[in-house]
Formats: sequence, structure tokens, C-alpha cells
Amino acid sequence: MNLHEYQAKELMVRHGVCVPAGEPATSIEEARTAIDKLFAEGHKRVVVKSQIHAGGRGKGTFKDGFQGGVHLADSPEDAAAKAEAMLGNVLVTKQTGEVGKQVNRLLITSAQDIISEFYVAVLLDRALGRPILMASAEGGMNIEEVAEKTPEKIIREVIDPDLGLQSFQGRKVAIALGLRGKLIGQTASLLQALFRTWHECDGSLVEINPMALIKNEDGTEQVVALDAKMSIDDNALYRHPDIAEMRDLSEEAPLEVEADKHDLNYIKLDGNIACLVNGAGLAMSTMDAIKHYGGEPANFLDVGGGATQEQVKAAFEIILSDPNVEAILVNIFGGIMNCNTIAEGIVAAVKETGLTLPLVVRLEGNNVAAGRQTLTESGVTLITADTMSEAAQKSVAAAK
Ligand code: GDP
Ligand code: MG
Repeated sequence: MNLHEYQAKELMVRHGVCVPAGEPATSIEEARTAIDKLFAEGHKRVVVKSQIHAGGRGKGTFKDGFQGGVHLADSPEDAAAKAEAMLGNVLVTKQTGEVGKQVNRLLITSAQDIISEFYVAVLLDRALGRPILMASAEGGMNIEEVAEKTPEKIIREVIDPDLGLQSFQGRKVAIALGLRGKLIGQTASLLQALFRTWHECDGSLVEINPMALIKNEDGTEQVVALDAKMSIDDNALYRHPDIAEMRDLSEEAPLEVEADKHDLNYIKLDGNIACLVNGAGLAMSTMDAIKHYGGEPANFLDVGGGATQEQVKAAFEIILSDPNVEAILVNIFGGIMNCNTIAEGIVAAVKETGLTLPLVVRLEGNNVAAGRQTLTESGVTLITADTMSEAAQKSVAAAK
């Protein structure tokens, strides 16, 4: 599950990361209140930031031509005008795709005087089986680009999961980033707090880009988190009801949200052959087979090992909500799954949705004879196949 910047910052603050003062706002009134509060507290400049589940907001463009999803403002009037321009508007960034994302929420923070910017993140290194801290002095930049063009500029520190990020490790990274004096210890503390955030929230990724060296009004220097990105391991969400509540369904693909309600594992893709399969491995093999015969899958859909008739029906409805679909391939291997349950689900779904698209069905395994009989006796028009490759070939031909 992905979080918004303001939510990630809230969790980071709880674990001791230093973040500038700020508040989220979902309406222009709320934005004005947050802006006035910051100016009343004595801040001379604020940042108005679009909250969407995508990066590159600063360099993004709104659909109406307004440039930038992150804006500095020197007065309450200016800040309110920027907030008004962004709220409800659709922001297109490198990460949103050309459709963009509607900005329903802003984060209003006090603006900082930046001296330099860094990248820091904690994530799991699957090859090592350990968490790592990644850092780079190329802050604000796209880290994938840094990794590709100048991989030597990325600092990696392996973390012992039992000990956590040690103070000496934090200082080593701070020094490698070019920080000196008191800032070394301060940065080490921030990095340790970042690791704790990752660990205690069951994060899969926590990222601060930029972590900034700033100059305070009294002339002192300090390192703070100016941006925050965080994703949580879904399998651990049950341990964090407070984080689970932060889920923003409006940021997720509507069909995937609907599938989730029925305990279906659905991911929309760009092709025209819809798949309905039981088991993630079989679903992936089915997509491979479709590709092998020159077709393009419209989705990944795993109905699970013990799907009910209702789930099969829901699965059909979800598949058919995708206007790109031109053929459907049902590939079921009944292990735990009873093939007849699937067959009855298919018949009910076809009749209820008035399906006219070509439907290829391959059933095999537990109670397959009864399943095939149900399909034959139903009078539903379908194309049967005995093997996975035959089913894939027939669906590719049908989609053409
Ligand atoms: P992103 O574009 O989605 O990664 O959004 P960021 O939160 O990283 O903001 C984009 C850029 O805005 C940052 O890289 C900074 O250069 C700038 N920015 C953000 N906060 C401040 C601030 O408090 N002061 C100044 N001067 N610039 C800021
Ligand atoms: Mg950023």
C-alpha cells in the first residue's frame, strides 16, 4: 500500500525524523486555515504541495497548463491562489502517465532555505536478505537515472535487522554525503529514525528525496526531510490498523479496488484477451502462453484456489468492465477447486452479463466431467480447449 507524502511524514515524525511544520488540506478553506496558521507562527514563506501517489510533482504540469505541482509562496494571498489553482486540477508527471492524477489534497508546509539536497532511502535488498540504506548526494534527482548513469554516486549501507542502523553507520553515510561537524551526528540520528520508521511500520520502502541541508533564520544549519515517500507491506497491514486507515482508494485503479472486495487478485494490463485463472502461477503461465501465440493479455486475474460461483461472476463483471477486452480465456486447473463450481459460475455469469464476446474455456482436474457437462447442457456458446496451448491459440485467433 502506498501512502501520501503528508502521511509518510506523519509516520516519520512519530519515529523521530525532522520534518518542517505543515498540514494537509482538502478544500480551499482548509488550505487558507493552514496557510494563515503558518504565517501567524512567523514563517515567511510556505510551500503548497499536491498530494498524489506519484513523484515528479515539482516538474509536473496540470491539464489546464498551470506549471508545477509544488509551489513556494511569500504571502498568504499568493499561497491561497496557488492552492486554488491546484485543488481539483489534474496533474501530469513523469510517473502518472498522460492521464495524470486529480489533486484532491494539498500539503501546506513552511518553506526552508535549502543549501543542498540529498537522496536517502531504506528498503529490502532481496539478494542479501537484509535491509539497506541507500543514499546519494545527487538529491532531488531521479534516483533511477543516478543509478544508471553514475552508479558510483550511490552509497549503500547494509543493516543488521537485529541491531538496526547503528550510529557509526549513520555517521559514515553522513560523511560520505559530504556533511561535516555537528551535522554528521544530526544526520546519523535522522537516518536511524528513518530506519525505525521502515522497520516499525513494516515498510517495503521509505524514501526522502530531497533530504535537505537548510539554513535556519538564526544562521544555524540543519538536515530535514522535505519530501517523503513510503509503501507498506500489504501482508503486514493487519498489524497496523492506524496505517491501514490511511489507505486512499481514490488513488488506486477502480477495477483493482472492486476485485479486492471479492478477494480476487486482479491487475489490469493493456492487451485485449482477458484471463480468468485459478492460481497465480497458472495465471502467469497463461499470460505467457497468450504472448507466445502473438496475443496480448488484458489482465492478470487469479480467482484463488477455492473460488465460489459468486466470485466467478464478479470476476466476469470486472473483466468485462475493461472496454479493450475482445476475447476471454478461462483456464482452470481444479486441484482444490471443483471444476463444476467454475462451470456453474461461468454459465451464470454469461447469462447475466449477456456476454457476446468469444469465450474460450479450458477445464482440467477435480470433477472435470461434471464441469464439462454443465457447460454443454447450458447451451452457452463457447470454444472449448483441452490444453493450455490450444486454449491460448484459440483465444488469440478469436480476439483477431
Ligand atoms: P516531487 O517533485 O514530487 O519529488 O516533490 P518534492 O517534495 O521533492 O518537491 C520538489 C522540489 O521542490 C524539491 O526538490 C525542492 O527543490 C523544492 N522544494 C520543496 N520544499 C521546499 C522548500 O521548503 N524550500 C525550497 N526552497 N524548495 C523546496
Ligand atoms: Mg521529491
